[in-house]
Order: sequence, then structure tokens, then C-alpha cells
Amino acid sequence: MNGAADGLNEKRGIVVVATRNMGKVREFRHALEPLGKEVRSLHEYPEAPEVEEDGSTFAENAFKKAKEIGDFLKLPVLADDSGLCVELLNGEPGIYSARYAGEHGNDAANNAKLMDELMRLRQGDDTEQPLLSPARFVCALVLYDPATGRSLEAEGEVEGWITSETAGAGGFGYDPLFFVPQYERTMAELNVEEKQRISHRGEALKRLLDKLN
Ligand code: IMP
Repeated sequence: MNGAADGLNEKRGIVVVATRNMGKVREFRHALEPLGKEVRSLHEYPEAPEVEEDGSTFAENAFKKAKEIGDFLKLPVLADDSGLCVELLNGEPGIYSARYAGEHGNDAANNAKLMDELMRLRQGDDTEQPLLSPARFVCALVLYDPATGRSLEAEGEVEGWITSETAGAGGFGYDPLFFVPQYERTMAELNVEEKQRISHRGEALKRLLDKLN
């Protein structure tokens, strides 16, 4: 062990995931509870500060969330900053994915805006091709332990396509619009296990746990 963030290495114990996004919480619970962790979220700590996500990268924002919340709660904190980068939109919405349409975390409005932007680019193109643009999800994770002041970082990505035909009711965020070639389904049609196996968050978590071990 490199001694970075000891919180996940204790056999038992609490890890606070620095989010109020229930989609993320579900995925972290699925991955970490079998390792004996008790996963809590900011729903259990309403007094935790709102962290301004003003970094210029996913990793900067994840570090800021982990450190500010960890120092406040005095507990090991795992922070995730993630988003969708769409090739035809020059990487947008990127770090602004959660508030693409203006209101933080309004998935329906964000999906509608993404569709509008891509359909606008397609005007004049009379093909019926449902795959609108290559895209990738990116996830930066930071595990921070206020007891030692140390942190550990890892990133993961998954490539796919934005499709004009939404499908599926699982997952969250842009999942119904994100077509995963290896499954030939959208991310929202995958169960938690399938998503974990290939997703940006699943990959980042695997890398983080490898670093801990
Ligand atoms: P954050 O909470 O600032 O990291 O924002 C993450 C945003 O990126 C979410 O609100 C979603 O819009 C998008 N996002 C991140 N991960 C996923 C995912 O696994 N599926 C779908 N959308 C995601």
C-alpha cells in the first residue's frame, strides 16, 4: 500500500461519496459494499458545504470536492467528477455536463439540449443514420483521507456514440442517449453490473483500488 488514502483500506469503515446524485451513489454502493465498506452520501450529511466546481479539469474538481468535504466531515471521502465529451461539439458539455441546460442536475433538460445541438448540426443531411456523434464519458476519482492529508487519484473513460433514438430506463444523466457498441445497447439499457464492467466510473474505480493494493 502506498499509504495514500487509508480510508478504503481499512477492513470495515465508512466511505463518504461526495455527491447527492443517486445514480452515482447506486453505482458506488454496488462496487464498494461487497468490499465491506459502508457507503454514505451527502444525503446523510446535509450540513456538508456546497463545493463550487470551478476547476478547469475533471481531476481538479474531484480533488476540490474530496478535500473540502473530507476536511469538513473528518471522514475519508471519495469524490467523483465526471461528464460527457461529444466529438462533434468539440468536447462539450465536458466539465459542464451536469448544468449543460442551465439548471444543475436536470437530466431531461440536458438531454434535450444535447439532442437540439446535434440535430442543428445535422440540418440538410437527409440520411437516417441514428448515430449522431462519437462521444466518451470521463470520470475522475479522488480518495482523500483527512486523517493523513493524503489523496489518491484515478481516471477512467468509455467510448461510444450519441444516438438520436433514446432507449432504456436505467442509469442516469445522458445514459439513454449513449450507445455502447460492445453491447449494442444504450448505457440506460444495461444493468448496474454491466455498466460497472465497462463504464468510465467502473474503470476509474478499478484503477483506484489497484493503486490502493
Ligand atoms: P458532476 O456531478 O459535476 O460530476 O456531473 C456529472 C454529470 O455528468 C451528471 O449530472 C451527468 O449529466 C453526466 N454523467 C456523469 N457520469 C454519467 C453516467 O455514468 N451516465 C450518464 N451521465 C453521466
